[in-house]
Amino acid sequence: MKIILTLLWLVSSVNAQQGRRQWSEAEVLDVHRSAILIDTHNDVTSATVAGLDLGKRRAEGHTDLPRLREGGVGAVFFAVFVAGSYVEGNRSARRALEMIDTVRHDIVGRYPDAFELAVTADQILEVRKRGKIAALMGIEGGHAIEDSLRLLRDFYALGVRYMTLTHSNSNNWAGSSGELNAPGLTNFGKEVIREMNRLGMMVDISHVSDKTFWDVLETSQAPVFASHSSCRAISPIPRNMSDEMIQALARKNGVIQINFGCEFVNADSAKSSPMFDPAMREKMSKVMAEMKDKSPEERRAAMRKLYGEARPRVRAKLADVVAHIDHVVRIAGVDYVGIGSDFDGVGCVPEGLDDVSKFPNLTRALLEKGYSAEQIRKIYGGNLMRVMREVEKTAQRMKARSD
Ligand SMILES: [Zn+2]
Repeated sequence: MKIILTLLWLVSSVNAQQGRRQWSEAEVLDVHRSAILIDTHNDVTSATVAGLDLGKRRAEGHTDLPRLREGGVGAVFFAVFVAGSYVEGNRSARRALEMIDTVRHDIVGRYPDAFELAVTADQILEVRKRGKIAALMGIEGGHAIEDSLRLLRDFYALGVRYMTLTHSNSNNWAGSSGELNAPGLTNFGKEVIREMNRLGMMVDISHVSDKTFWDVLETSQAPVFASHSSCRAISPIPRNMSDEMIQALARKNGVIQINFGCEFVNADSAKSSPMFDPAMREKMSKVMAEMKDKSPEERRAAMRKLYGEARPRVRAKLADVVAHIDHVVRIAGVDYVGIGSDFDGVGCVPEGLDDVSKFPNLTRALLEKGYSAEQIRKIYGGNLMRVMREVEKTAQRMKARSD
């Protein structure tokens, strides 16, 4: 017994010397539940729109209702994702409407005891008080508005509260990081930003070209954010942000929401991923072009097979995600980082963060790193709430001015 006590004393003193201590499961969950975890990018909507029942636990994928509850998730921005392929034949707005419907009908409508639609920061808090998960919507791919501010306003009226200005394709008014030497914002692009500011829709700069990013920062009257991007200093892919960009975003009071995708958080994963290999990307667009006239099921199967092939050979770890959070905290501050997992939008996620039920593992890792409960509450939702509120206030100010 004495030996055990001595050993325990040794272990605890070593931890104390490092400024760290052991956290029990109950303590970790206490801190976890004290935060409102807002995940600003989840792509499970691409599956629900095709018929997936989100209420049932499933073995594959990253998201379902039982696992969201286990993970203590407070709010989810479901992606109203419109692939670039919908531009041909002007089918983008129709696709966006269908994606909005899957959030409203298949998720919130089907499970009203579990989810409630929220469109303001205050509503996220109210939904939380009722013990439910707040469901929010963000359009991914600005081509969804088909170059019409009227459609932008319609989407806002339906509850959309952010828009990612581009996906991997540039559109008529904003350049994408998915294309080499993509341009910035056109004059109409600047009008889109101003109208988003006036409405109170958050401007999301994930996926955009560097030029577009700097144009947006100059144009927007409200803070802007990256809904699902990580740090180039650690994994140098075009989808991530440079330190200079993160610091400029922070100076504007915005926030970068860390993407969990293996390639986003780990440079070796990115290097070993055919996804970032031009030959693989070419093969993907070729296959998709060939599948154009096939049924949605056949197209999905082909896509699944391609994504399977495109998986990186090196898997990231939970510690990689912590390293990105640490990095933003170091270069910008703890007020400018958050969570935008990209669950069900990326093929490979880190070991230990395998799906939405595993968020408490991240809480433990952050506590063990020395983060306080208050800092974790900021990272998990406080920072994003601040951006939402400032965007709401800017809209009120702009509307008051034009009255
Ligand atoms: Zn994305």
